[in-house]
Amino acid sequence: MIAAQLLAYYFTELKDDQLKKIDKYLYSMRFSDETLRDVMNRFRREMENGLGRDTSTTATVKMLPTFVRSIPDGSENGDFLALDLGGTNFRVLLVKIRSGKRRSVEMHNKIYAIPIEVMQGTGEELFDHIVHCISDFLDYMGMKSARLPLGFTFSFPCHQTSLDAGILVTWTKGFKATDCEGEDVVELLRDAIKRKEEFELDVVAIVNDTVGTMMTCAYEEPTCEVGLIAGTGSNACYMEEMKNIETVDGNEGRMCVNMEWGAFGDNGCLDDIRTQYDQAVDENSLNEGKQRYEKMCSGMYLGEIVRQILIDLTKRGFLFRGQISETLKTTGIFETKFLSQIESDRLALLQVRAILQQLGLDSTCDDSIIVKEVCGTVSRRAAQICGAGMAAVVDKIRENRGLDHLDITVGVDGTLYKLHPHFSRIFQQSVKELAPKCDVTFLLSEDGSGKGAALITAVGCRQRELEAQQH
Ligand code: ADP
Ligand code: MG
Repeated sequence: MIAAQLLAYYFTELKDDQLKKIDKYLYSMRFSDETLRDVMNRFRREMENGLGRDTSTTATVKMLPTFVRSIPDGSENGDFLALDLGGTNFRVLLVKIRSGKRRSVEMHNKIYAIPIEVMQGTGEELFDHIVHCISDFLDYMGMKSARLPLGFTFSFPCHQTSLDAGILVTWTKGFKATDCEGEDVVELLRDAIKRKEEFELDVVAIVNDTVGTMMTCAYEEPTCEVGLIAGTGSNACYMEEMKNIETVDGNEGRMCVNMEWGAFGDNGCLDDIRTQYDQAVDENSLNEGKQRYEKMCSGMYLGEIVRQILIDLTKRGFLFRGQISETLKTTGIFETKFLSQIESDRLALLQVRAILQQLGLDSTCDDSIIVKEVCGTVSRRAAQICGAGMAAVVDKIRENRGLDHLDITVGVDGTLYKLHPHFSRIFQQSVKELAPKCDVTFLLSEDGSGKGAALITAVGCRQRELEAQQH
């Protein structure tokens, strides 16, 4: 008994000792409440810049109008095709929406690979590949002659001038196909369909995944007026008052704004809280200097931040006996799913070592204590700054409506949010602390980019018919 206690004592001491040594390197990643409040306030200023007529052209948080004017009302009906491009997988979906008493949504989908040489080849190759996949899917479903309405979930920043026109501002995440930036991607898709000469489609809407997520949740829960993605990338949308969106004519009602919040900080406004590790991740990325906020809080980058810290700590002799292995030098080796595993509460240090072993990192017990601490620090910071962004959004909605208190629902999608053991809890806690006048419910979205795109397409078709009747 006494031996066990001694042993436990020894381990706690050892742990504290180890952590003290590295604390000075992690210190700048631990944010005080004051810093987080400051981040929230900066966020709010950037939102205003994106919405303002004179400031929008140079704004970093673009606040893009989506031409989605209302959430679904349950009367949506029909068969729709949806594309989901911009996440880990490219998918083609058939979505059957039925209205009335037995409201239902039935989905069929197929995942297709986009080879890296297509992702980073020419735009024509990329869109030909997409149309080739659609063709295969229509054959598979036996629906080639139907001329279905289509919703195109395209999760990149686009300047929209209508529901079915979107000019790509810039590629993000892993994409880099040429001749697409500055072009209307709906036209690029229509052109590729024409080139193929095999089938016709009615492209009704271009959809951001955040908007699809919001709409999917709103179909079940009408108080859902915000969408959040915490997956490969990080982004959000919400229903803004038309009168505040100075980049679109009209003052009546609301429109959903795709914030493109991942670019927050690209004007340098976060540089005082970014670390050398964030800078290293940025320098190693495909889009240097861009998406600085996203690079601090989304799945594509958290593992890379951890790897940069581990390299530095190894150089300083605190880890892996001071030896930087080839493994540790390899970009992308430390995937964000390993953070989830390592940070799991149920995991003993021995198991942490086993995970590192799998990665080809030969660790001691001390090493595993440090690695776990590094992962925890990086993911906590991510959840907190993501929470600061969301707090700015919900508090703005509350002010828009002149309320002392706002009840609102946020639809959320993304594997980081869904699978990380602590991210969602810390995120929600930050929102609560930073926006105390808002009662926020978080609803997990099931396949927002597929179902949501179909719902937006259905609402768009209805709108179109209404307008045709009026003329
Ligand atoms: P996308 O955002 O690409 O549409 P997801 O929401 O599924 O798709 O997010 C995928 C991203 O989630 C991956 O790029 C990876 O960074 C991250 N991820 C994958 N597995 C896990 C996990 N177990 N825990 C945390 N993050 C994960
Ligand atoms: Mg997705």
